[in-house]
Amino acid sequence: METITLHQVTCPNCGSAVMSYSALAQDVECPYCHQMMRNVEALTVKREVACASQIMPFTSSLQDFGQHLVNALVKRKYVPQDIFSYLNAENAMKIYLPMFVYEGKYHTRWSGYTEEKNSKDGTNEKHYIDGFVIKEFAVMAPAYESGQLPEELKQFAATFPFDAAAMKPFDLASAQEENVATIEANADPDAVWSSTVKKQVEDMADQAARNDAPGGISRFKQDTHIDIYSNGRLVLIPFWFVYYNYRQERYFFIMDGSGRKEKLTAPVDADQKKNANKYNIYYWILGALIVLGAVVAWMDNPAGKFLIGAGVLGVIGMIIFDRMRRKKIHNAAQEIRKEGAARFLGQ
Ligand SMILES: [Zn+2]
Repeated sequence: METITLHQVTCPNCGSAVMSYSALAQDVECPYCHQMMRNVEALTVKREVACASQIMPFTSSLQDFGQHLVNALVKRKYVPQDIFSYLNAENAMKIYLPMFVYEGKYHTRWSGYTEEKNSKDGTNEKHYIDGFVIKEFAVMAPAYESGQLPEELKQFAATFPFDAAAMKPFDLASAQEENVATIEANADPDAVWSSTVKKQVEDMADQAARNDAPGGISRFKQDTHIDIYSNGRLVLIPFWFVYYNYRQERYFFIMDGSGRKEKLTAPVDADQKKNANKYNIYYWILGALIVLGAVVAWMDNPAGKFLIGAGVLGVIGMIIFDRMRRKKIHNAAQEIRKEGAARFLGQ
């Protein structure tokens, strides 16, 4: 196994292991607790770790990350209009996480019975039916067991899909030059396969077999065989993470290093939400009118059809009116947040 050197220092404030491919500078900010560590050079230990086969490079800057957060807060419904006056972002974390990639092919044989009507005597006949699905898969899973990472980032990374097209061969020189934090790949690829990834691939195969089988199949059975080409190939995936505060509450924003996937939690303005939903009661009233119409119609009263018609027309009118009204509310709130964002970014 090919190995490379990681430079590691233990943060005196929070005890996290801070790692990088490049030599650590005199003073380094801990990416976990954001304390400055002074004179770390003398404390640095070198560790030999497994070399990643591929890397998904960062194609976004810290500024891009901030811009994505601002855009997400402008766009998100019910975010308070004064969000940018009270927003207080902590230092962002920029990190490469080691992941295992499992590639292979699953072969799934399925069988079951379909029912058909016999045209002669009208009785139902069961017919045996079977089929075969072969598909390639590429599944990624965390290659680390780390208590240091924020729980939210761990969960986001654990479900991040593998994208072969975004990968580049790992090159130590550029990893050193980038000087981005990383963590050690300390999980066992075989253990990760049997504890999580195998089940994921089996579920994929089961779903593919069910999609391949005709609808209404009974006594469905499938049998899956998995061929693996790469059993836990090590790759590095880039992530941004930040906690931000709004009026004493903490929220987070995560983005992958390419800016394609992100996740945000944000405060909700209860008044805005209440205002947007304030006509929901009319849907209930109109619904009751339709039900009443159905009951009246069932009693052979001609007024029933009239009530149903009025109810349906009412619902259609309500949808058109309410949708426009909600859009106006969201747009107005968005405009205010946009102005706040411009002030915030201009600071
Ligand atoms: Zn620390």
